Amino acid sequence: MNLIQLFKNIKPFVKPYKWLVVITLILTLIGSLIAQVNAVVLDRTVDAVNALIGIKDFSWAKAARILTIISIVLLSKEIISAVVTFAQNYFGERMRVFVSKDMSQSVIDKILTFRMAFFSRQENATGQLQTRIDQGVSSLSRTVQNFFIDLLPLFTSAILALVLMFIANVWVGLTALFIVPIYFWITVRQARKLKGWRRNMRNYREIKSHGVMNIIESINVIKSFNREGIESDKQWDIQTKFTDNQMAVRKTSFYYDALKSFVRQVGTVLIIILTAYLVLSGYPGMTIGKIMYHVMLFANVTAPITQLQRIFDDMNDALIYAEGFFDILNSDSDTEPSGNFRPEKVQGNFEISGVDFTYPNGNKALHNINMKIESGKITAFVGLSGAGKSTIVNLLDKFYEPDCGSIKLDGVDLKEYDTHFLRDNIGLVLQKNHIFDGTIEENIRYGRPDASFEDIKEAARKAYIYDQITALPEGFNSQATALSGGQQQRIAIARMFLKNPPIIFLDEPTASLDAIATEQIKASIDEIKRGRTVIIISHSISQIIDSDVIYALKNGRVEQSGNPDEVYRQGGVYKDIVDASARSLNIEKLAQTLDTDGDGKMFD
Ligand code: ADP
Repeated sequence: MNLIQLFKNIKPFVKPYKWLVVITLILTLIGSLIAQVNAVVLDRTVDAVNALIGIKDFSWAKAARILTIISIVLLSKEIISAVVTFAQNYFGERMRVFVSKDMSQSVIDKILTFRMAFFSRQENATGQLQTRIDQGVSSLSRTVQNFFIDLLPLFTSAILALVLMFIANVWVGLTALFIVPIYFWITVRQARKLKGWRRNMRNYREIKSHGVMNIIESINVIKSFNREGIESDKQWDIQTKFTDNQMAVRKTSFYYDALKSFVRQVGTVLIIILTAYLVLSGYPGMTIGKIMYHVMLFANVTAPITQLQRIFDDMNDALIYAEGFFDILNSDSDTEPSGNFRPEKVQGNFEISGVDFTYPNGNKALHNINMKIESGKITAFVGLSGAGKSTIVNLLDKFYEPDCGSIKLDGVDLKEYDTHFLRDNIGLVLQKNHIFDGTIEENIRYGRPDASFEDIKEAARKAYIYDQITALPEGFNSQATALSGGQQQRIAIARMFLKNPPIIFLDEPTASLDAIATEQIKASIDEIKRGRTVIIISHSISQIIDSDVIYALKNGRVEQSGNPDEVYRQGGVYKDIVDASARSLNIEKLAQTLDTDGDGKMFD
């Protein structure tokens, strides 16, 4: 991305704040004019005072008059300057903040429309995506600030000062003009030299903060293995590299700063000598006051170039980060597709035919899947971890599209369905990642935003979590993230009860629950199953055995399907899993325990 493209991309974000731009520009002009007042006043003062020294009838009254005028002019200038600077900073900052807010919001809105495939690409992993957005927004809004608050006023003032120098005397103007490119060249070299190091600094800073986060997150592991020393050494390494780099940056900066200061001083000396020479040789219009006048104007000319190196650096950052940022913002290829089919009622009969599926990273997860999932029945997906069970649910929820084959719901291809409508009719309970920051009530309400509090309480009851919520000091207003894994799971189930959809996908819903909670959840799931399409992915045999149809998957293929008893008798994957589960439960011993200690009823 080059500068022109960068500004083209920023333009739509600045456009709504047109009037702020206009105000800032007007203020910039006023500010630049005011910046020259000191030079003019000093010029006049020196000349006036000088004239007073020479005359015979010197009186303090005359001197006082001159000094009063000077004081009034300078004070008025300072007052106007303070107001203008304040207004300029305020309006400029307002623009920067608003532009940055709009940018952040647009990228969030855009990301929300993206299909799942976007999020599963490696370069879009949570942390990386966030860094890309944050850096994009901050460097782009800095560009707006640099341009309107820093660069524009300074350069207007510099150009104005240079023009005034030329008006005063062409030779003086040319001397100033001769120094500027040298000064500019040194600044550019400084920026180039520092570029790589600055980037390193940023990397080290990220590594450093990441390192501290890592330590805090794994503190119990570090302590239990007594690895404090190793962790400290790791940090020491990073700190050392960071400080070495920091010193290198400082050294280069100091070197170039000294060089720039020297060149500026040489410029100032040249201007003093030249003006003094012109004054002494009686050049028309050249008075002693002009020496101060030219020196001050020259200071105004060189001031923006001092800032240039930082702005140069920021612009480089903006060019780098803007690319990743606008790639996201301008991409339409990742927008989630949607049809417009919205039937009156969803029955919930799925038919999957000849479906293959490959994840965006090239991982082929499903091969020639054929399934019939019927309403009013419980269909269980069984198989070892990684067999492809969740992937099928992802396809049924239209999170991804199959490579080939078709998925139909009530005889209509899923592609035809309005995606929002489809998902309104599906309840998905996952094993984790389902609780948001917020209260328990807000988390349950997520299932149906317009639900009454009574509905929420009812949903909590059905999910067997009501009593536990009311026992908390803040009840439904407690933070949901503070609940245990099992409790959070039941909040998610309550949310689904509230949504009350005709199709339900349960992806290992009881995986993180204790035995008692599992039993309670099982009861509530049994309750919700009636008259709906239910797909359950579970490792819990008790839930699988209860299903009407099972599909046993292995390496992305359906190995067996049918009624659980039949499939078990066939042998194969399903039998292996059931047998292994039974062994892990130590069923024989369990039976003995129940026979001797319990009332034995279970086995009567
Ligand atoms: P299961 O639910 O049976 O445990 P999954 O459907 O989650 O299995 O995974 C099937 C295969 O797809 C596995 O090899 C898994 O590594 C892979 N997989 C799952 N999710 C993704 C993803 N987002 N990107 C790439 N590969 C994935």
